[in-house]
Amino acid sequence: MINNDLSDTIAAVSTPVGVGGIGIVRISGKGALNIADKIFISPDGKKPSAFKTYTTHYGAIARQSKIIDEVILTVMRGPKSYTREDIVEINCHGGIVALREALELVLESGARLACPGEFTKRAFLNGRIDLTQAEAVLDIIRAKTDSALKLGVEQLKGSLSNEINKYRESLLGVLAQLEAGIDFPQEEVPREDPKAISENLAAVEKGLGELIAGSRLAKILREGIHVVICGKPNVGKSSLLNALLKEERSIVTPVAGTTRDAIEEIIDIKGIPVRIVDTAGILEPRDLVEKKAVARSRKHIASADLVIILFDASKRLSKEDTFLINKLKKKKVIALVNKSDLKQKIERVRLAKIFRSVIDISAKKMININLLENAIADLVYSGHIASREPLMAVSLRHTDIIRRAKIIIARARESLDNSLPPEFIAQDIKEALGYLDEISGKKFSEDLLDKIFSEFCIGK
Ligand code: GDP
Repeated sequence: MINNDLSDTIAAVSTPVGVGGIGIVRISGKGALNIADKIFISPDGKKPSAFKTYTTHYGAIARQSKIIDEVILTVMRGPKSYTREDIVEINCHGGIVALREALELVLESGARLACPGEFTKRAFLNGRIDLTQAEAVLDIIRAKTDSALKLGVEQLKGSLSNEINKYRESLLGVLAQLEAGIDFPQEEVPREDPKAISENLAAVEKGLGELIAGSRLAKILREGIHVVICGKPNVGKSSLLNALLKEERSIVTPVAGTTRDAIEEIIDIKGIPVRIVDTAGILEPRDLVEKKAVARSRKHIASADLVIILFDASKRLSKEDTFLINKLKKKKVIALVNKSDLKQKIERVRLAKIFRSVIDISAKKMININLLENAIADLVYSGHIASREPLMAVSLRHTDIIRRAKIIIARARESLDNSLPPEFIAQDIKEALGYLDEISGKKFSEDLLDKIFSEFCIGK
């Protein structure tokens, strides 16, 4: 459960667990300065409650005059702070023990341990950010590539809220017109113009549709795609993975695996986080370990968004190649002929009949690796989206709500076309507005807040 009480003062370690140069204990709430006064000793004897906002001070923290750590303390007074409350941040030495001691001292002095995401939640409840911006904070923390980070930063600036607000204003305009007709039916007020209203609604519907369409790409940029490299043994799968890693930045270090098993890397290819798995090249397992590896390969292929199949240019197509080709019938596939630096023996005509395009590469000599990267990016951006960066990180929660609002607006338009009474239509518009308010968090439920903020780490 997440605590919605804003009257107490919360504290947590805001830096990652583990040994670091420094670690930060963050305190937020009415009692933050009071707690700091109790524990902070400054060389000139001044107390934190006398410090100016956004100033940093050298000193120590102590429990009953016993020094616990040498620290730098920063005071940020509300409402101009992350949570809009008084915030004190104590930069301690980064060891686990030192930080825990400092946190304990703060808790003993009157703070409560913060729940996950509670600082950001206070920023939301105190009206500094809306819900889409709170969600953006999480996106930023989790961003794996520059593009995903950019999306998060845009959303934190309010890009999605602004867009939603535009549609909200349109709907409020429509509602005002409808209600004038309802409230003063007999009077000579200008009546609502059904054609103009219908056009307004259609424009909102179209805009919402575009937001939903943009979400698919946003999801890919945030979460990445899952690519599997397959091919018979010795065709050059590991060499290809290495070639890609040489050309691009690896996002994480390899997940442990054996030579017989799958190895996974996350690479940034043109802004797309690509999870690449180099599968075991075994087709006919000789023992239990290999059997398991083959089963895992099969699972990887089944769940892959894209499969890269490798052929050996210096060899004729074999039974193993055909076996693999048949396994990939329902998948999105990029076909590569590797070892193009060697004498060519492969039957190209046969390959051309099976695959729409085949790219010649040499993993060892790093030839045409960029062509493969372009092909992957083209598939993701579907050609035409490549030059148009998505502006908004529309999440699953957002698309679900937008879709519902869109359905209601379509229904309102239909009612309008069928000349139903304005009361009906006004009711629908109010419902659609209610949905849009759920996106920004103007309307929210406890459950929703719990769900969103419990995904944060403690201290954020
Ligand atoms: P895997 O079993 O499919 O992972 O294949 P490896 O990547 O281990 O490569 C098998 C052998 O083929 C190694 O000796 C590589 O050096 C060699 N090899 C890989 N790519 C190329 C290439 O493009 N040209 C040449 N000539 N040799 C390659």
